[in-house]
Formats: sequence, C-alpha cells, structure tokens
Amino acid sequence: MPFYDLKCKCGEVFNIMASISDKENRRIKCPKCGSNELESVFSNVNVIQSRNAARNECPNIHRCGGCCPHN
Ligand SMILES: [Zn+2]
Repeated sequence: MPFYDLKCKCGEVFNIMASISDKENRRIKCPKCGSNELESVFSNVNVIQSRNAARNECPNIHRCGGCCPHN
C-alpha cells in the first residue's frame, strides 16, 4: 500500500499507509482530531532529487573542476 502525507484542516500533518480506496472514500482520519477532511501534502521530491544529484558529483570537484573521469 502507498504512503500518504496528509494535512488535516486542524493543521496536523501526518504520514499514513492506506489503500487508494481508503483515501478516495475518505476513510483515513486525522490521528489528532479524527476529521477526514484531509488534503495531500506533496513532499519536496525535487529537493531530494537535487540533493542526490549533488552527491553524484566528483568528490574532488573543487580540484578538478568537474572534468575528471569521475564524471
Ligand atoms: Zn485534525
């Protein structure tokens, strides 16, 4: 089952594993207030990807300028 990052109208943000039908049928409830008025929160996927890209850079980039065989 997929994980969802959800934000409740009360401001609670939580991560929950639920089936798609549970989400579509609003069977997921806020653990804090019990409301099912939740909206999806999209985590910063682009930020994570750019961090991974930075890790793939040559560790000696400050010396080789990025043109050594590591790239
Ligand atoms: Zn809530």
